[in-house]
Amino acid sequence: MKYIVVTGGVVSGLGKGVTISSMGRMLQGCGLRVTSIKIDPYLNVDAGTMSPFEHGETYVLNDGGETDLDLGNYERFLSISLTSDHNITTGKVYRKVIGKERRGDYLGKTVQVVPHITNEIQEWIEEVAYVPVDDQGNRHWDAVDENGVNAATPSSSADEKDVRVADVCLIEVGGTVGDIESSVFLEALRQFQFRVGPSNFCLTFVSLVPIMGEEQKTKPTQHGVRDLRSVGLSPTVIFCRCKEVLEESTKNKIASFCHVDGPSCVLSVHDVNNVYHVPLLLLEQKLHRILAEKLQLSSIPKLEGRL
Ligand code: ADP
Repeated sequence: MKYIVVTGGVVSGLGKGVTISSMGRMLQGCGLRVTSIKIDPYLNVDAGTMSPFEHGETYVLNDGGETDLDLGNYERFLSISLTSDHNITTGKVYRKVIGKERRGDYLGKTVQVVPHITNEIQEWIEEVAYVPVDDQGNRHWDAVDENGVNAATPSSSADEKDVRVADVCLIEVGGTVGDIESSVFLEALRQFQFRVGPSNFCLTFVSLVPIMGEEQKTKPTQHGVRDLRSVGLSPTVIFCRCKEVLEESTKNKIASFCHVDGPSCVLSVHDVNNVYHVPLLLLEQKLHRILAEKLQLSSIPKLEGRL
């Protein structure tokens, strides 16, 4: 399983949900099976009790789970069907850990944020990532031959469950880096990158590039990435939300100050009239190649000609 994590900085409501959904859509176009998890660092167990005036619309899943609207974005962009376990909140994680503590599962140990809460988060992510979320038959990337043709035969019911497991799990961390609320999740993800190994983990960061007069400003992005790196996470890709297309000089500056592998890893996610254009925006900027290299996704180069 490959994990792609999206974090965000500077301000909330930047478009992390749209960006990660678009990335998922692009990967599906590359023949990969995708699932997604939304992390909401609030103490509410779910969004069902939250005022829509404050939080926006609550999205109801097929299993009755009341969640953040971002899960609606994932379902619509990716044609998948998620469960309430795909929405991890601080409230749910603490409820589970406190339940275990009451049952005596920790055998008298002092229950702490690290390691008990952080371990619970990592186990939750790993468990839910393997839940099949679509019904599209056999499209496993191992089954793609060197010409990019899906060589798999329709699976028999016995092994169907395994085959339908996703290749890539997208994880969105709600809120902004630097918030007290999200720090425990970032710590869990810091540990998680070593648990799954560098070729299975890719961190991305969505930032804001404001325009002052004529100039695209990079300082908020530099500070956001610095905050992220201070908790032990370094982004492979930086998505810059901007009113206008990012200039080459802006990309160069962000690349040199933010510890990424060149300006090609700084992507312009400028305002578009229709958010369903964002996957194409990412494809044009060759995000699939960056992900293929980082996550060793050998099927992507084979399929590139068909995109
Ligand atoms: P977050 O997950 O960071 O809270 P969302 O993904 O929910 O943010 O997006 C916030 C708003 O920004 C939504 O109304 C969405 O349609 C809009 N948006 C996101 N990306 C773009 C874009 N590239 N161009 C125009 N609007 C966008």
